[in-house]
Amino acid sequence: MVQVPSKSENRASTSHPPALGHLLETPTAAALVAAHGRSRVKEALRAEANERGRVEAASDQEILQGAAGRLAETAPARLRKVINGSGVVIHTNLGRAPLHPDVASRAAELASGYTDLELDLTTGRRGDRQDLLSHLLSDLSGGEAAMVVNNGAAAVLLMLTALCRGREVPVSRGEAIEIGGGFRIPEILRLSGARLVDVGTTNRTRAADYEAATGPRTAAYLRVHPSNFRTTGFVTRPRPEDLAAAAHRHSVLLLEDVGSGLLFPPTGAVASEQRLRASLAAGVDVVACSGDKLLGASQAGVLVGRADLIARMRAHPLARALRPDKMQLLALEGSLLLASDPTRRDEIPVWAMLRARPSALRRRAERWAERLSARGVPAEVVPLRGAVGGGTTPGPELESFGVMLRSPSGAELRQRLLRAPVPVLALERPGGVAVDARTVLMDEDRDLLESLLWATGERTDHG
Ligand SMILES: *Cc1c(COP(=O)(O)O)cnc(C)c1O
Repeated sequence: MVQVPSKSENRASTSHPPALGHLLETPTAAALVAAHGRSRVKEALRAEANERGRVEAASDQEILQGAAGRLAETAPARLRKVINGSGVVIHTNLGRAPLHPDVASRAAELASGYTDLELDLTTGRRGDRQDLLSHLLSDLSGGEAAMVVNNGAAAVLLMLTALCRGREVPVSRGEAIEIGGGFRIPEILRLSGARLVDVGTTNRTRAADYEAATGPRTAAYLRVHPSNFRTTGFVTRPRPEDLAAAAHRHSVLLLEDVGSGLLFPPTGAVASEQRLRASLAAGVDVVACSGDKLLGASQAGVLVGRADLIARMRAHPLARALRPDKMQLLALEGSLLLASDPTRRDEIPVWAMLRARPSALRRRAERWAERLSARGVPAEVVPLRGAVGGGTTPGPELESFGVMLRSPSGAELRQRLLRAPVPVLALERPGGVAVDARTVLMDEDRDLLESLLWATGERTDHG
């Protein structure tokens, strides 16, 4: 976030820069620096001193206290733990998939030393970091080979650049989408050097439309998961097997950006998602997906499919610019190992949350409500609708429960919860806020209750 200096700051920093060095040496300032960083503390001290006219007119203590107050109002300079009470499982603003604690601790342990990231321990020669996960990903998806890049967007860019540059790529008008964060399919195609050829209509596109647009310059058909919106009614979209048959009849590739990358059979909230395995079995040549959506791992982009095409992408210079680092690979590897173990795969946090039963969520919300009421904060259990999130399945789909805290201003209480000792992202509701039990991790009960008590206690003190 860019801090815009207030008018008084501007004026003072040009005409009357106050001497604040000695304030920065005090123990109070040192504690603030530890929490917010030196430059922010300096900024707050200066702003406070300026507002009070001249430094000499106010005591050091007053300036320090004022600066501490200002800093408490601004976002902290460090990443913080946040309790997700929103009911959105894959929440991009909250860093998407939380890692399993075993995966996170192994990643942290190995990252604090050297690893065999690019060293083959059997031969003593240089290894390839791309070999590490290729087998795991292939086994889980049924593809011949796989590679990992920095994120899903990078996977799509590399796929189109390495396989389609300078050639044509027919895309359905219903799939030339924007998925947010500036990622638009037509723009990515332009960036890759491939030429998009629009086919079909917004609501109806058939395999024959792609075939009619196929010529000597066609490299591949691109199929894109519609991500965060849904078309209903008079809608047709070719099945992947029909599109693959059409592509291969004309000796062109079928590439698919599936977005989320479902490894397990589609059930419940993700019933409408297609598994990676299903795409590949239908004849898709290369599938691209994200690592931190339904895979439940770290930020990463996964490409899986035909071995010769994966080899071409691995050899492309862009692959070097998009390569993942060891932290990402460690987190992805750990999560994929959990996914490969049928006795443990439901422990992947994203999956555990998606599978949580409404009855269990209601019981958990009831326990919270009891404990809050016992501490003098009335709370009621309410039904809520959560969402998968991450551009996976649009709309609220998950039947859930949570607690509701009444407040004359839900917006204000929601803001206050964001400033709690452990910040809580809650849902603003008419007459209060709600916290969805689905996305609060199992070991966060205590922090959640403390933050709820803190936020409501403050409110009664001041109003
Ligand atoms: C999320 C998504 C992407 C981008 O993946 P990131 O990992 O966020 O870069 C690309 N395409 C689709 C369809 C998506 O849903």
